[in-house]
Amino acid sequence: MSDDDRIVPLPRKRKTAALCPVCGAPAVAARQPFCSTRCAEVDLGRWLKGTYRIPTAETPPEGEAPDEDES
Ligand SMILES: [Zn+2]
Repeated sequence: MSDDDRIVPLPRKRKTAALCPVCGAPAVAARQPFCSTRCAEVDLGRWLKGTYRIPTAETPPEGEAPDEDES
């Protein structure tokens, strides 16, 4: 048991567990928690208008770190 046990690094796969709070599409890592820049801007606009409410539950414990290397 030596070289055969090498761990093969997994390719970076998108985290699709979270859904875009704007349109409900699967979020992409680059734009978490949104599916696109557009949806992120839409969400920001809601915040600025003061009409946005924080959704209950569903908040990932580490939604601010899209570049984490752990798998
Ligand atoms: Zn979206």
